[in-house]
Amino acid sequence: MKRIFTFNFLSRLIFLLITPVFFQFFAFGFIWHSIYWGVITAVMLIWLGFIVISPLFGRIGCGWFCFMGTAIDMAGKHSIYKTKWKKPKIWVRLLILVPFFATSITFYFLKSQEGVTHNFDVIPGFLKLDFSMHYKIVWIADIASAIILGLLLDKRWACKNLCMMGTLCAAGATYSRLIPVVDANKCTQCHKCETECLTAIQIVDYVNNNKGLVTNSECILCGKCLDVCKFDAIKLKFIWDRGKYKNSLKSPVANM
Ligand code: SF4
Ligand code: SF4
Ligand code: SF4
Repeated sequence: MKRIFTFNFLSRLIFLLITPVFFQFFAFGFIWHSIYWGVITAVMLIWLGFIVISPLFGRIGCGWFCFMGTAIDMAGKHSIYKTKWKKPKIWVRLLILVPFFATSITFYFLKSQEGVTHNFDVIPGFLKLDFSMHYKIVWIADIASAIILGLLLDKRWACKNLCMMGTLCAAGATYSRLIPVVDANKCTQCHKCETECLTAIQIVDYVNNNKGLVTNSECILCGKCLDVCKFDAIKLKFIWDRGKYKNSLKSPVANM
C-alpha cells in the first residue's frame, strides 16, 4: 500500500507514452469531434465511463489515466508561480464547459442538415478514419500546453479551473466512496502530505474538521499523501456512508 504512488506514476507514465499512437482514444478534446459527427467513439465511451464511476471511485480517471495531468505534474515541479489551495471557481469552469458542448452540438445540427452526420451510432474507431493526419499535431499542442500551464501555474491549477472533463469528474467525485482517510490519533500535523499533494489539498483541515475524511472533489487518488506520511496515518478507504463512518470513530487522543 505504501508504494501506491509508484504504481500510480507508472500507470500514468504508460498512458502518456502510448498516447502518440492511441491519442484519438484518450484525448478528451476529440469528444467535440465525436458530437460534431454524431458518433459515439472510443474516447467518449472511456471518459463517460470515468464520469459514471466518479461517485464511487472519485477522480480515478484524472489520477491514474490522464496523460495531460501527468504532463502538468511533471512540469509543475518547476513551476514559477506557487499557489496555495484555492477552491476552483465554478464560473471559470463553466466558461470552458458550456462553449465546448454548445459549439459541438450546434455544428452537429448544422451538419446534420447536410446529411453527413450519423445518428450517434457506436463506432469506437471512427475518429481514426477521419482525423489521422491531425493526431500528431494535436498531441504536440496538447502536451506543449500542459507543460506550459504546469510551468507557469503550480499544482494542477489548470486541472482545477480549466479542464471540462475535470469539472464533470469533480461533480461526481463530490460523492466519492473512495477517500483518503487520516487517522487523527496517528497524525502529528506535520503537513508533509499537504506539501506533497499533487492538487495542494489542505489535508490537515480535514483532520481538524471532518474526522480525517479528505472529502475533496479535487483529490485524484494518486496516493502521494499515503506514501509520504512517515507516521502511516493515511489510508485509502472505501466508505459507503460517510456519516455512519464518522459516527463510528472514537474521538482522537490529543497529539503531543
Ligand atoms: S482535470 Fe482534465 S487534464 Fe486534469 S487530469 Fe483530469 S482530465 Fe486530465
Ligand atoms: S504527513 Fe501524516 S502525520 Fe503529517 S500531517 Fe499528513 S497525515 Fe498527518
Ligand atoms: S489528497 Fe492524497 S491522494 Fe488525494 S490528490 Fe492529494 S496526495 Fe493525491
